[in-house]
Amino acid sequence: MKKIIVQKFGGTSVADTDKIKNVAKTVIKEKENGNDVVVVVSAMGHTTDYLVKMAKDLSPNPSGREMDMLLSTGEGVSIALLAMAIQAQGYDAVSFNAMQIGIMTENVHSKARIVDIKTDKLRKNLSEGKIIVVAGFQGVTEDGEITTLGRGGSDTSAVALAAALNAERCDIYTDVEGVYTTDPRVVPTASRLDEISYEEMLELAHAGANVLHPRSVETAKQFNVPMRVRSSFKLDNLGTLILGVNKMEIYKPVAGVAADLSQARIVVCDVPDKPGVAAKLFTKLAKENISVDMIIQSYARKVSNTNDIAFTVDMADLAKTETTLNALKEEIGLTGDIQVNNNIAKVSIVGAGMIDRPGVASTMFETLAQQGINIRMISTSEIKISCLVDKDDAQKAVKALHEVFELDCDVVAEVKGDLPNV
Ligand code: ADP
Ligand code: ASP
Ligand code: MG
Repeated sequence: MKKIIVQKFGGTSVADTDKIKNVAKTVIKEKENGNDVVVVVSAMGHTTDYLVKMAKDLSPNPSGREMDMLLSTGEGVSIALLAMAIQAQGYDAVSFNAMQIGIMTENVHSKARIVDIKTDKLRKNLSEGKIIVVAGFQGVTEDGEITTLGRGGSDTSAVALAAALNAERCDIYTDVEGVYTTDPRVVPTASRLDEISYEEMLELAHAGANVLHPRSVETAKQFNVPMRVRSSFKLDNLGTLILGVNKMEIYKPVAGVAADLSQARIVVCDVPDKPGVAAKLFTKLAKENISVDMIIQSYARKVSNTNDIAFTVDMADLAKTETTLNALKEEIGLTGDIQVNNNIAKVSIVGAGMIDRPGVASTMFETLAQQGINIRMISTSEIKISCLVDKDDAQKAVKALHEVFELDCDVVAEVKGDLPNV
């Protein structure tokens, strides 16, 4: 049986018809290598941003269902165009959207998780020698409702397809030459990594390195799918391989630095200090499908017997979070303010090399202090330290941390396309 390779091309890679012709050539090359090929594509260029903007012009709070109906159209355009471009070069190709294949998701709008992918149609078409082009980012529920997986979610569509088809590899083609020690648009001397483990990549992606959708790495790790991130434009460079293992001995404590500018901080003041209150608060947020990231609870004040609970959420969930908290006020007995700050950024350092190596956190805090940057919240995992800082300080913090942990290289990274305004 032939090996199956899943390839994914992001928005910049299919931004116009010339680029689509170029993608068709890359796809055909993989077919010519003797492999079966399934291609996943995103919407062309900044199409999704443009669709979001049109929706917001019409309604301050559009319904999740109609947003998904709208945003899923972007990928519909690119699959048909890419299939045509492949056919025009003399190869058999067919495009499918999520509904035609059966990319089944939970019944949640705007950030649905994939629960199952039907493979019969895919296998049948591959056995007929066809190249299959699939719409990324979208799914369908049991009831036939269209869903989307969250911004940047085409990466997850590709890895999930690779897992379902037991593919040899999932190649993510994008506008940079791989995964770098930090965003090469922010630090042009960032170094490209030849390989990185699922664990480190997962932490980096969650920390804001949007080169990969975090759930794509989660899925790759769960199903052991080898992933490669590489350039659509420089095919001689094999990019970065993401795989199961860390190197035996890791010499650098930090593998990468990332900033997440899309979070908001909420402080719920004067929360009654008694058992069950935090549970009620966060259970309610979870029921609304709001993911909470950093959490800090202050010491209880003796006189009032209350404390403050601060946490961060994705900016996209901010309005829903405020509504949920306001509705909870009476139930929990909240009498204090609910303060919101969306002028913050989470800056993180990630590396398996920091395990059992003292001094990494203190170096991070000292470096930020030397730059005059105030730390507002701190959270850690075994291989990550994150600090919440003011948004205006984020770039300065990333550059200083990248330098102090010796991640710079001499070569300036080549970056195509302009930054999507997500
Ligand atoms: P695509 O449209 O191909 O999915 P994205 O814009 O989602 O592309 O992701 C690629 C971008 O991710 C790069 O242009 C780069 O600016 C950004 N990026 C952020 N952190 C990193 C990193 N550590 N390594 C490489 N790219 C990064
Ligand atoms: N087109 C979607 C977005 O812009 C999905 C993706 O690009 O992965 O978020
Ligand atoms: Mg992306």
